[in-house]
Amino acid sequence: MTILPASTARRFFALLSALCLYGACAAANVDYFTDNGYGNPLSTMQHPAAEHFNGVTYVAYSGPHEDPYVAAYVHATGQWLGPVQAGVNPMGKSPDQIDPGELDNHGRPALVVDRQGYIHLVFGGHGGDPGLGQNKFGTPGKGRFIHVVSAKPGDISAWKTLDNVSPFGTYSQWVKLANGDLYLFYRHGSHRSDWVYQKSTDHGRTFAPQVSVLKHKVSADKLTVHDTWYAWFENGRDDTISASYVYHPCANPGHNAHRNNTYYMRMDCRDGSWTNVQGERLALPVTKEAADRLTLIQATGKEKSNHGTCHVDAEGRPHIFFRFPHGEVRYFRWDGKAWLPPTKVADARGGGHDGDFLIDSPLRVRMLLDKNEAGVGSVGWWNTADGGRTWTRGPDLITLPDTGFETTALVRNAHPDARMLVAGKNANQEHLYHRMYLIGDRGPLSRPAAEASQLGDRLELIKALPKGSPKRDAKRKKRAGLANDEP
Ligand code: ZN
Repeated sequence: MTILPASTARRFFALLSALCLYGACAAANVDYFTDNGYGNPLSTMQHPAAEHFNGVTYVAYSGPHEDPYVAAYVHATGQWLGPVQAGVNPMGKSPDQIDPGELDNHGRPALVVDRQGYIHLVFGGHGGDPGLGQNKFGTPGKGRFIHVVSAKPGDISAWKTLDNVSPFGTYSQWVKLANGDLYLFYRHGSHRSDWVYQKSTDHGRTFAPQVSVLKHKVSADKLTVHDTWYAWFENGRDDTISASYVYHPCANPGHNAHRNNTYYMRMDCRDGSWTNVQGERLALPVTKEAADRLTLIQATGKEKSNHGTCHVDAEGRPHIFFRFPHGEVRYFRWDGKAWLPPTKVADARGGGHDGDFLIDSPLRVRMLLDKNEAGVGSVGWWNTADGGRTWTRGPDLITLPDTGFETTALVRNAHPDARMLVAGKNANQEHLYHRMYLIGDRGPLSRPAAEASQLGDRLELIKALPKGSPKRDAKRKKRAGLANDEP
């Protein structure tokens, strides 16, 4: 039995009676659960953004002021709760911004539910403000990495801050083992910083010090290049953690958007050791030289690559996708002896493909990807039954005109009705608020319109701001390209 908070119940009954006054006793439903996703409200990089636990799917995203917001869907009753603001992002700006270039977006939340049912978020950081002190693992950035936890298990209504992780992080990624141990992976600073993790064996109440996994340093080849990484961490088979990553040859000084190559390695959580896919031991932190020698999947040369997601099959063998130019998604698989030649799953010229996938068996994989065809956005399945040699398009879970979708990693422990949290962006609008959808095998999980309406008078206030400039209009159009991972 789930008890609705009084305020939600009041809103619900107020809506119901309002509708009945007009003779329409069936509540008008909309397919989004809120309209207050803000900026780039989510990404596959901060993950998971959602988890299904004890019959409830909890979701987290950036709302007004780039603050973290949480909502919950109760599967047994079909009711939505929230969204509720769970903290304050130190990089947030007031009043509402209308120029997307003014938002940092790196402070998006990642969410995990511990074994006791408390919900945890880490958000607010882009490497940490220089005023926070010395960053031992990298360069300073902006904001502050903040960890909050729900005051009660399974209850999103109240939150408290736990000052127990490094303030210098960005790109928060939670991995939860079957025994309840939590690993928080993140980049320890701005773009020139190590990737590290901190481990908790007490449900996130305390964390061991940082362990550096991937090393940043001036390149051994060129003083004008700095070795850095973009990495993605996730459970492997049993008590292992997979890392898939790309190299970022950062300009020194300065920064550029270049990334290339594809890499894989894994951690044995029983002793904290790391090996490559063949099982050879790696010394930590892994340098560019060691990565090239031991963990490289493919050298892509001048062709840019970007991280996707990684999962292992029942044999413990990794399957990975990486993203390439023109929205091309390529699938990589280790068959026990070698990395099979990557295959193209799909491309979306200018559309920006991203998403995540499920492994049904070593040869059967289903990918849930966004797509944009002539302005019509969708998120749908791509399937292979022959180990990735060929891919065919499956059903879409959502399709909307004039909309570009942004995806997250799949909901952890997902219910089939709630597989992925996505944001729908309309490139023609004069503001940065976006509708948020929780989609599954039955499509988006709908909600009464009045409950999903969370903006109050914000759009009226935005209309009162000075009118658009050519620069801003150009940026707004560019935003439809869904570029997410800044430095
Ligand atoms: Zn850089």
